[in-house]
Amino acid sequence: MIQYESLFAHAIDKLTAEGCYRVFTDLERLSRRFPYACWRGPRGSVEVIVWCSNDYLGMGQHPQVLTAMTHAIAKYGAGAGGTRNIAGTNHLHVELERELASLHRKPAALALSSGYSANEAALGTLGRLLPECVIFSDALNHASMIAGIRTSGAEKHIFRHNDVADLERLLRAVDPKRPKIIAFESVYSMDGDFAPIAAICDLATRYDAFTYLDEVHAVGLYGPRGAGLAEREGVADRVDVIQGTLAKGFGVVGGYIAGAESVVDAVRSYAPGFIFSTSLPPAIVAGALASVRHLRSNNAVREHHQERAAHLKRLLAKAQLPVLESPSHIVPLMVGDARTCKRVSDELLTSHGIYVQPINFPTVPRGTERLRITPTPFHDDAMMNALVAALKRVWSLFGLWPDRPRAFAPSVQRPRTAAGAR
Ligand SMILES: *Cc1c(COP(=O)(O)O)cnc(C)c1O
Repeated sequence: MIQYESLFAHAIDKLTAEGCYRVFTDLERLSRRFPYACWRGPRGSVEVIVWCSNDYLGMGQHPQVLTAMTHAIAKYGAGAGGTRNIAGTNHLHVELERELASLHRKPAALALSSGYSANEAALGTLGRLLPECVIFSDALNHASMIAGIRTSGAEKHIFRHNDVADLERLLRAVDPKRPKIIAFESVYSMDGDFAPIAAICDLATRYDAFTYLDEVHAVGLYGPRGAGLAEREGVADRVDVIQGTLAKGFGVVGGYIAGAESVVDAVRSYAPGFIFSTSLPPAIVAGALASVRHLRSNNAVREHHQERAAHLKRLLAKAQLPVLESPSHIVPLMVGDARTCKRVSDELLTSHGIYVQPINFPTVPRGTERLRITPTPFHDDAMMNALVAALKRVWSLFGLWPDRPRAFAPSVQRPRTAAGAR
């Protein structure tokens, strides 16, 4: 007999042995109290500060977003009622797609269930529809783009991360008559670095390639209207497809693409992941729409966000903590070992009321395990000072300072319990 269950258990044991077994932190987000949350830990409910959310601007708790969602539920009910083609296109979907097209100054946009499914559906379909297509993919592209490229069945060439010379070498080697898609991201979420968008667009022009840009970690956050890094760099018109999420900077859920009429229509008409799946609930669409509209006209939020990230990086560097240099809002703190990374994260949570999830393989390469800190406009100076102080204690506790003796002093500071919270 085949031992099905033990085969799966063996796969899990393998992860555990590598220190990569994932333990979800059981939280309750608190409406309008971002970045505070309740952690449902072994000692009951404990109030913690979340330092690793992708709700980069706290829009998931923004009053305008919450109001729009509440009103939409009262008016339209819970679910969308079907796929987009069969009873599931609500007027809000049409409005959201108009708004997203206009945000990116593209003729059309299409909303999908998530950023993941947007990448999977769009790359899968575009790569399949173009005859003899070759896709050039950045080495650090997100799993969803890799899935889309695989779905497309197109020939794939991986270029070294952000390496324009390597990309050119690969482009030059392919028959000029074959259709080519260059798929890349604007802000890479683990190192927080930026793609050379203009230089990649130059190559696309020279080699007659189509450009597909994942702006998931940039929409809402960069550019004077929050349309992303391509907008900030003034090159959005040179990018053929901009893909984004409504879940990170915009704080709700959902994904989208924006581009030329025929490109968006092709995905709408051919992508199984779009066609055969129920559309986003109206309340979700209403919240996302309110968020996009709010951020479009509020550049001060973006400036504040950047100031907060820069301030935290300065504090960490001053404390000689191993912060990775980056131009973005993402603050990676390097640990370099899966097990240690998990222990550091556990200690921060249980002894300091600070929640930063450890980032281990396969999300990042082995040996580059890290804490990925994402300060928002709601993380004030006092919170940052407390974070740095806690990190220094934990670094000492686990002997992580280079050339410093291990300190055994147990930390005494305890997080407040939810009962004693404000
Ligand atoms: C998170 C992420 C996605 C997926 O977006 P979701 O809306 O969370 O599904 C796509 N691309 C990148 C680079 C991401 O980090």
